Amino acid sequence: MSWNLKSPSAAVPAPQGDSTVAERVAGIIDDVRTRGDAAVRHWSATFDSWEPESFRLSPERIEEIVAGVPQQVLDDIRFVQEQVRVFARAQRDSLTDIEVETLPGVRLGHRHLPVGRVGAYVPGGRYPLTASAHMTIVTAKVAGVPSVAACTPPIRGEVPAATVAAMHLAGADEIHLLGGVQAVAALAVGTETIDRVDLLAGPGNAYVAEAKRRLYGEVGIDLFAGPTEILVIADGTTDPFVAAVDLLSQAEHGPDSPAVLVTTSEETGRAVLGHVERLLPTMPTKDFAGPAWRDHGEIVVVDSVEEAFAVADGYASEHVQVLTEQPRLALDHMRDYGALFLGEGTCVSYGDKVIGTNHVLPTKGAARYTGGLWVGKYLKTVTYQEVTDEASSARLGEVCGRAARVELFEGHARSGDVRAAKYAGAELPW
Ligand code: NAD
Repeated sequence: MSWNLKSPSAAVPAPQGDSTVAERVAGIIDDVRTRGDAAVRHWSATFDSWEPESFRLSPERIEEIVAGVPQQVLDDIRFVQEQVRVFARAQRDSLTDIEVETLPGVRLGHRHLPVGRVGAYVPGGRYPLTASAHMTIVTAKVAGVPSVAACTPPIRGEVPAATVAAMHLAGADEIHLLGGVQAVAALAVGTETIDRVDLLAGPGNAYVAEAKRRLYGEVGIDLFAGPTEILVIADGTTDPFVAAVDLLSQAEHGPDSPAVLVTTSEETGRAVLGHVERLLPTMPTKDFAGPAWRDHGEIVVVDSVEEAFAVADGYASEHVQVLTEQPRLALDHMRDYGALFLGEGTCVSYGDKVIGTNHVLPTKGAARYTGGLWVGKYLKTVTYQEVTDEASSARLGEVCGRAARVELFEGHARSGDVRAAKYAGAELPW
């Protein structure tokens, strides 16, 4: 049995449920498709008041920007990128190419090949999301992607210097100061000055996420990574102050970011609520975190920790932080989440900023069918086959002939027949 100690005051729209966003995004994409750079320039001026001579930064300009970034910031970027790289390399190494012999002389294999050109979107409307550069670009480079075009918007008319430095240090082959739907569309369909990519990766706001969703098929996309979500699981042992701080850490992403507490202890729930309400006015980012908590904040009280895991699975939240007495139990009980944060020693902010797992994660229920960004998203698993044994080919040819005729495919059947005839002396039935 579960009940709500605090209910959200507004529904979170489904990805395609907000018709205003959908219509606007469709219009911008069509315009970029038709008018290319002129449309990109128009929409960048409209939404970001940004209309430079060139959106692409020259190597000299990049060097100049990086030189202006404080040394400590650069050192921290290098540290975090190394954490992301080490984990991504381990994930890459876990993927092996295979070749097996399934019948005498019949060899089937698969290989993991990197896509040729990736567009890495690094968000920057409200905050310069420097860490998204590590997540999208370092991971693409570990996967072996030869060409990465990275885009980020100016932040309130300014160059986001740390983000540009992170893009550069991560190994981006091109850096464009361009954001929103116009950036996503330009990368996906190509313009006079931006070559189209094979795959788009990276998180973004509702407009960016909708643009990627709409362009899927024409271009590959990593996953649906929209406005951030957090779900904290608590019990009677949880420090309510820590839980409250962590809920607000993600609510500050934007007014559409849900923050949910699922607790087996009503007392913990009430204590967390008290701390959140006290902390909120002290946050410089309260203009985002406040509406997020008011409209999408929730506290659910359940009877047992098993029920808490089941309820949490129902949300399929992007981030699930487990602050219970035995956090690792979540590994056995849960299956629908973007990333798990086990115990008080870690937190979603570590995942976002420093620890090395990827922070580009599924939102709005997409965790039901996908995990987050990782090297595997940049790789195509392609197969090959070879038959060097004539008897095996003849046997396959016979079965192929019969199987294809069941489906009324005479042309397919004849490719089997001809091998059966050639290698086993069978009669050609046509
Ligand atoms: P953003 O870069 O995603 O979007 C900024 C762009 O939005 C601007 O450049 C502008 O062109 C466009 N835009 C703004 N208002 C518009 C309008 N009315 N119509 C059309 N376009 C408009 O940056 P952001 O807004 O700060 O959002 C970042 C988002 O990324 C947040 O929602 C955050 O929660 C999310 N995020 C998600 C993950 C994840 O893995 N799921 C990770 C990090 C961040």
